[in-house]
Amino acid sequence: MKNNYLGDIQLVLSNFTKLSWDNYNKRLHGTIEINHIYLDEHIISSFEIEITVPINYEEVLPRVICNAKGVPLRFNHVYKNGVLCLATDADQLCFFADGNNLFDWMQEYVIPYFFAVEYYKKYSTYPFGERQHGNKGILSFYMEKFSVNTYDKAFNMLKYIVMNSYRGHISCPCGSGKRIRQCHKNTIIYWQQEKYRKIFIEDYYNLSKERKANE
Ligand SMILES: [Zn+2]
Repeated sequence: MKNNYLGDIQLVLSNFTKLSWDNYNKRLHGTIEINHIYLDEHIISSFEIEITVPINYEEVLPRVICNAKGVPLRFNHVYKNGVLCLATDADQLCFFADGNNLFDWMQEYVIPYFFAVEYYKKYSTYPFGERQHGNKGILSFYMEKFSVNTYDKAFNMLKYIVMNSYRGHISCPCGSGKRIRQCHKNTIIYWQQEKYRKIFIEDYYNLSKERKANE
């Protein structure tokens, strides 16, 4: 997919009127206003943010930084370098691979993130469930996408999807003992689409490195 870079920036600016565009640094900056209702909770707030937007942002993800006052330290979804941990990279990369643009990404990841921050300040709990960090977080994403219930099953599914072509008669990598065609056929065919391949290969190699190191 090729994004429509300046058009996408313009779309964000016309919907988030307190953000400005710094074309030299390829950065959106200013105030983001939250006025949203989820789970019967209406939250109104605002945050000072900076979003760096690479020209090929659908492959090299945009990154959000918020000033320290905005996000409490105990809200542990901020990386050490100050970048907000919105979701796993693969999650966001698949979202762009599906044809969504920068404005869609703001709606899907950035707004809910700040909603969660305010919710957390109020209730000391996360509105959308707590996500794990590191490889567990990455595998949780695949557990959800592949409809399996353990990290190992998610890893084996990922391995199959990346390394093999579809063969219905072999036993399913989820470990059910059934043949693929009677088990995860549709899931495997769906996630073997070329547009996801590069994203999954990178996660697969990083995850297998860690598994080898732990053996
Ligand atoms: Zn299966």
